[in-house]
Amino acid sequence: MEGVVKGDNVSVTCKICKRNFHGSHSRVKAHFLKLKGYGVIACPKVTSEQQSEMLELLESCQQQLSNRAPRKVPLPPSSSLTGSGSSYFPLEERDSATKKRRGVSPQLTKAFKIEERQQCDAEVARMFYTSGLPFNLAKNPHYQNSYSRASQILGYVSPGYNQLRTTLLDNERHHIERMLQPIKKTWRETGVSLCSDGWTDDQRRPLINMMDACSNGAIMLKAINCEGQYKDKFEVSRLLLESINEISSDNVVQVVTDNAPVCSAAGAIVESTHPHIF
Ligand SMILES: [Zn+2]
Repeated sequence: MEGVVKGDNVSVTCKICKRNFHGSHSRVKAHFLKLKGYGVIACPKVTSEQQSEMLELLESCQQQLSNRAPRKVPLPPSSSLTGSGSSYFPLEERDSATKKRRGVSPQLTKAFKIEERQQCDAEVARMFYTSGLPFNLAKNPHYQNSYSRASQILGYVSPGYNQLRTTLLDNERHHIERMLQPIKKTWRETGVSLCSDGWTDDQRRPLINMMDACSNGAIMLKAINCEGQYKDKFEVSRLLLESINEISSDNVVQVVTDNAPVCSAAGAIVESTHPHIF
């Protein structure tokens, strides 16, 4: 009858018996199907014909949902189970060579948790394949560090979707900003060169990046997505002037771009706005 009251709970009026109650779909279901333990009275006017019709609907919905759910694909079996040998431990290779590849001794397998390790490897690999993660991620030092840290904490649960895109992201951003402060404090003294270039990322989006360079280090200020915008001299100079204002124009000594005609023209506009900037 009304909008959302609290969470999933809404105000409901039964079309059959005209009774009012609050709740989510589970209470509606319990009311019609006369289920107990849902804190709602059973519908006194629903006919057994209507009831079986609703049951059928419910079952076909549940069937559809389970059909749509991702199927569980088992991980590839450990090589110690298939007997094809493993490259985890040189010790084991030596062993299996002497045993003419009759597989690793059960004690060894157990002691080094070889099966568990291989299943864990397979799970990590599956994560890469099912999310299209670039294999380069394996070269990221934080990739290895995160797993070695996690293995030190019993029962550790990795951060979820929301934590990654809110709290953790904010924390990281504020932390980086704080770390850049010492460099930014020297701008006044050393002066800043604003460097800008246009490029296309691997998703073919036209980007313009802005970097601040001074003798104490370079900082990536931002990358601007120019998709669907025509990059004429006015647009490019607008972006440059915006960045100059963020740095504070007094600190900027020069702007460095490539020699595309649109950049030269934009440079002339910047020079006429701020005569001290080269
Ligand atoms: Zn009813």
